[in-house]
Amino acid sequence: MSRAAGRWFVSFTVEVEREVPAGPSARQCAIGPVGVDLGVKHLAVLSTGETIPNPKHLAASLRRLRTASRAYSRSKPGSAARRARAARLAKIHAQVANQRRDGLHKLTTRLATAHNVIVVEDLHVAGMVRNRRLARAVSDTGMAEVRRQLAYKTSWYGSALHVADRWYPSSKTCSGCGGRNPSLTLSDRTFTCPSCGLVIDRDLNAAVNLRDLVAGSASETVNARGADHKTRVSGQVAMKREPGSAPAGQTGSAAPQGAAA
Ligand SMILES: [Zn+2]
Repeated sequence: MSRAAGRWFVSFTVEVEREVPAGPSARQCAIGPVGVDLGVKHLAVLSTGETIPNPKHLAASLRRLRTASRAYSRSKPGSAARRARAARLAKIHAQVANQRRDGLHKLTTRLATAHNVIVVEDLHVAGMVRNRRLARAVSDTGMAEVRRQLAYKTSWYGSALHVADRWYPSSKTCSGCGGRNPSLTLSDRTFTCPSCGLVIDRDLNAAVNLRDLVAGSASETVNARGADHKTRVSGQVAMKREPGSAPAGQTGSAAPQGAAA
């Protein structure tokens, strides 16, 4: 048993026999690969063009979190008021985390059952997250949680998880022609390609780029998936390729590494 933010948690272990769908045939109804760009304003934008909104009440909780955070920082160190405000802050933090996790569970179950390969970014590279530190913390937590959930759900449902290289510039690459727009700033909500003139929503552009990392290499992905299944017991299903070792569109023969967050 443990206690966090005023709530008790009881953990226990249950052994469940779960049938893993065998091979690609079980996934024939799945709609190809999908790229997922996780955000702050929205929960995620998919390469299919769909925007997944944040869970209900999350925005209200985030507002309360900001207020409680300010109240805490204004209180006198060592005072009873500070302890009370710290407890309140922790409680709201836990609420935000729960609401977000709930939304992420619904999202990852849908992704792992509806697509044969799900491509996500590695944790956000410094500077690529809009907004302030709070947003950044929420976003990074979400990313780690999405990867954790997808790692086991893809093995449950016979799909595969592909984690893009940390340095892959999914935001600054044109999903139309592959050209780069290095001048894209953090506040640009729209990607405009200087080479081909494509104008596209920034998050959708990133999601499409992520999808295209595997879209052209279905056979290799199936191979990689075989490797997933072999290492499923240890939960190591995330795949990574070394920076620069394979051009975009190829997963390479990436051996699974213990990269699951
Ligand atoms: Zn272009």
